[in-house]
Amino acid sequence: MKKPTIVNLCDRNFKEISDQIQGKHLTNIQIGSYSCANYFIHAIKYIFEADLREFVSNGFDLVIPTLPEHYLKILESKEFRVCCDRCRQVVINDYGVLEYLNGKCDVRMGRMFFKDYRDHRYKEYDTAEYVGKAKAVLNFVLNSGFQISAYENDIITQNYCLDHNKTFDIYLHYPYRQISMSHICEYASIHKNIEDKYIPDDSCSMQCFDVKVLSPEYRYIKIGKSVYDRLDDRYLENIKGDYHLIITPEW
Ligand SMILES: [Zn+2]
Repeated sequence: MKKPTIVNLCDRNFKEISDQIQGKHLTNIQIGSYSCANYFIHAIKYIFEADLREFVSNGFDLVIPTLPEHYLKILESKEFRVCCDRCRQVVINDYGVLEYLNGKCDVRMGRMFFKDYRDHRYKEYDTAEYVGKAKAVLNFVLNSGFQISAYENDIITQNYCLDHNKTFDIYLHYPYRQISMSHICEYASIHKNIEDKYIPDDSCSMQCFDVKVLSPEYRYIKIGKSVYDRLDDRYLENIKGDYHLIITPEW
């Protein structure tokens, strides 16, 4: 059975987000980032200033990227606290933030916790039957006393068997599958000397989010620091069990 769908507006410029939500009466959206703490700071300021409730009936989910240590002070900002209070669910992508927010909000574990290999060049990761590796991660999280209510992942193959855990809601991303993520922004290093290039999580002026690099056959797309491939509906046909879809509008 299909459950309500979420529209994924992470890692987009804010003009595009406003265009997507205004006048559309969307039910569920998510905002934030799967790849960049620098972008995330701008996103929570945008949410803080916009009244999303006017446009989105069930509020929004807030996606927090993997936060490097020198960005942890974001979690104490007024903007972040207000976003947490207003959102429906917080999507967390690393253990540090999971620990920090434990018990304070409704938590969904993000796709970046689940390290299943994603590569359509190998049939094991494209068409073959594949049982997800979520169970070990979820068991660890529960045994460590973390409180979560849901988890999400990419669709790993065309015969993806969700390792179903009835305690949690499952969310699956479609049609863009995140296959790689880096902590280096090349725009942040352009004008720097060689020894200062490639500093992880260095901040840029957000140029990277206005550049989309497409492979010729439109199978791969790079946005910000992430590379995605694009799935088609063969990846949805054989999924059994109840799940929510997180749909990313076309990049
Ligand atoms: Zn950048």
